[in-house]
Amino acid sequence: MDGATTVIAPVLILLGPPGAGKGTQARMLEEKFGLVQLSTGDLLREAVAQGTEAGKAAKAVMEAGELVSDQIVIDILRDRLAQSDCQRGVILDGFPRTTVQAQALDKLLEESGQKIDAAISLDVDDAAMVTRISGRYTCAGCGEGYHDTFKQPATAGTCDKCQGTDFKRRADDNAETVASRLEAYHAQTAPLIDYYAKAGALSRIDAMGAIDSIAADLAAIVKTATA
Ligand SMILES: [Zn+2]
Repeated sequence: MDGATTVIAPVLILLGPPGAGKGTQARMLEEKFGLVQLSTGDLLREAVAQGTEAGKAAKAVMEAGELVSDQIVIDILRDRLAQSDCQRGVILDGFPRTTVQAQALDKLLEESGQKIDAAISLDVDDAAMVTRISGRYTCAGCGEGYHDTFKQPATAGTCDKCQGTDFKRRADDNAETVASRLEAYHAQTAPLIDYYAKAGALSRIDAMGAIDSIAADLAAIVKTATA
């Protein structure tokens, strides 16, 4: 292609356990860089609703109570990436989850001369994550958020906002559940981290800091990837 410059939009993958703030960070990247976040669940729902070929295939498989194959997800992704809003770049969330999927994704991107620009791992300290998540609770009256370690009401047992005395915790925010969620995440993600490290596409961010500093680290990586 002489003369014409083809701008290839960045393709980013965001990896991080539940509670690492992936959703918040993806939204900030959407706002700052105009990137489009593509999550597998949303893609499937859209394709089924639109009745695309791949969407029909996905619907049939799901109605039969089976798991949607990697090939169907890839086909749906191919359709979605061809839409104009994705030309500014995308953030993949929830796909790939396995190295087989990562290889299939690489092949798909090759079709259009693209590649993964950065697989960004939001790294967390597991013990600190357990403390952070399992300590959360909210006022049953007004929904104000509190934390055993970081934010107790000024008067113990009384909500600062509404003076309510009833508080609740999410059942799946207990320490054991959080620890096993993190363990499952690491077991599932370790091969992907290796895969992208070998491909030279892996970036790691300390995701235990303030939201703004994580966002700044992410923005620096995106800028490098798009330079
Ligand atoms: Zn309250």
